[in-house]
Amino acid sequence: LSERLSGVFDRLTKQGALSEDDVKTALREVRVALLEADVSLPVARDFVKAIQEKATGQAVTKSVTPGQQVIKIVHDELVHVLTGDEDPGALKIDSPPAPILMVGLQGSGKTTTTAKLAKRLKEKNGKRVLMASLDVNRPAAMEQLAILGAQIGVDTLPIVPGQKPVDIAKRAKQQATMGGYDVYMLDTAGRLHIDEVLMDEVQAVRDVANPRETLLVVDGLTGQDAVNVASEFDGKVGISGVVLTRMDGDGRGGAALSMRAVTGKPIRFVGLGEKMDAVEEFHPERIAGRILGMGDIVSLVEKAQETIEAEQAERMMKRFQKGQFNMNDLRMQLEQMLKMGGMEGVMGMMPGMGKMAKQVEKAGFDDSILKRQIALIQSMTKKERANPALLQASRKKRIAKGAGLEVSDLNKLLKMHRQMADMMKKMGKMGKGGMLKQAMK
Ligand code: GDP
Ligand code: MG
Repeated sequence: LSERLSGVFDRLTKQGALSEDDVKTALREVRVALLEADVSLPVARDFVKAIQEKATGQAVTKSVTPGQQVIKIVHDELVHVLTGDEDPGALKIDSPPAPILMVGLQGSGKTTTTAKLAKRLKEKNGKRVLMASLDVNRPAAMEQLAILGAQIGVDTLPIVPGQKPVDIAKRAKQQATMGGYDVYMLDTAGRLHIDEVLMDEVQAVRDVANPRETLLVVDGLTGQDAVNVASEFDGKVGISGVVLTRMDGDGRGGAALSMRAVTGKPIRFVGLGEKMDAVEEFHPERIAGRILGMGDIVSLVEKAQETIEAEQAERMMKRFQKGQFNMNDLRMQLEQMLKMGGMEGVMGMMPGMGKMAKQVEKAGFDDSILKRQIALIQSMTKKERANPALLQASRKKRIAKGAGLEVSDLNKLLKMHRQMADMMKKMGKMGKGGMLKQAMK
């Protein structure tokens, strides 16, 4: 049985690590996928380069190809890059009335998004919201916001013809304060392209309103341009996040990665249609899958990894049920723990092990200890691992020396092994009743 068990690991290691060639070949495809998704060239180049370094040498999961493995690594890295520190959907709206400034190019979806977010704030957060259109260039733009406001039951600032954007912003602040609103949203005018006049206007409004959030609205279907737009707006006005609209379309959303990489600002919301409910907070995995356009490969690799873990668990369980728990088993457990982020977490998941996890924590157990324990086991002979009862004083000395540690360290390991073996035996018995099965899931 233990041969079959180690067979799993043999197969795992036989396929071995990703070679430089494996990674290079797969990354060529990834690069094309990124560019097709409208990720800007320099961003795609940097991203691929970083992955090249990261992926080379990583283990390949059984039953997937190296190429598939690389794509999974790319996917995870995309998610990592796209994930901000904060909750994307949580707008800063403390200290009422909190101003939110909406900026972006003409037609990007500012007015629509303003109304969508106002509706969300009202319904989800129970906030009283006032919306004001600062778009003095097109009279219809102000009407548009008023109509949307009426539709969603959110107040809009009365339209006064002939006022400058800065004056409208001041009036909005006044009205929001007097009217006891929690939030007021300023929907600015856009231009077809970035120009000085637009930037000056937005800066002036910003200085008057001192917004808690400045959201840049960008059309998710725009490719390369999005990066310029984002860095211009961030440099001149300072943005706190990005809303990506038209993600209901065919666009693959590469702009998200480009903007994130260039400005470092988080994507906060995604627009998914013209309707007032068609907005949701940003989910990095979804965009990562879209950008890569290789979602099936990602799930295949995930599946393969899960299968291996399940097989391993199954075999372990059978051994434990028979009360078998030698040093090889312990080593495997220790390695698994190292992989899963420490002993405490793993033990906490097993019934009856919570108390032990606490003791372990008190003893200052960390990864370096796990590594030392693994080294001790490695220093044992095959026979000793299979039968720890063999370990008398002279053998102990040899083993400790081999691992560069003290005999007292080895004694601690042996004590832990005994405790765990006892526990496994008990759980093995319970396991026939299904409890261990539960625990191993
Ligand atoms: P603004 O000039 O930036 O204020 O842009 P608007 O809010 O007026 O939007 C321009 C057009 O895009 C309108 O027809 C909107 O209905 C449409 N629009 C805005 N957001 C989305 C979206 O997420 N998906 C789709 N399909 N259309 C959108
Ligand atoms: Mg507008």
